[in-house]
Amino acid sequence: MNKKCLFCQIANGETSTEILFENDILVVFKDIKPAAPVHLLIVPKKHIRSINDLTETDRSILSELLMTAREMAGRQGIAESGYRLFFNVERGGGQLIFHLHLHLIGGWQK
Ligand code: AMP
Ligand code: ZN
Repeated sequence: MNKKCLFCQIANGETSTEILFENDILVVFKDIKPAAPVHLLIVPKKHIRSINDLTETDRSILSELLMTAREMAGRQGIAESGYRLFFNVERGGGQLIFHLHLHLIGGWQK
């Protein structure tokens, strides 16, 4: 845990952020500034700066992020209508918070 990192604080339950899902590896919460009707962030509990900083031992974290995104899309009722999953990587890739997170956005169609 990085004490100055916002997403470490959220994952550690130190903020009022509502956690939609949690397991040993990750937490899921709503993006505070949603870019779509559904916009969730899937965030590992381990502090990893970006995709660039993943190591071999983080393979299981990455697969957990993706499988949880799939599960959350179903729970949000957007699996059939469709959704986007993306990582912003470093400043040039639009990353603003330097704690790895997977964006899940969708829900444009009813
Ligand atoms: P990125 O640009 O990929 O680093 O995305 C960071 C995301 O975190 C943005 O979409 C922000 O709206 C979102 N965000 C920032 N602060 C919070 C917060 N306190 N709770 C939830 N989402 C946040
Ligand atoms: Zn962190």
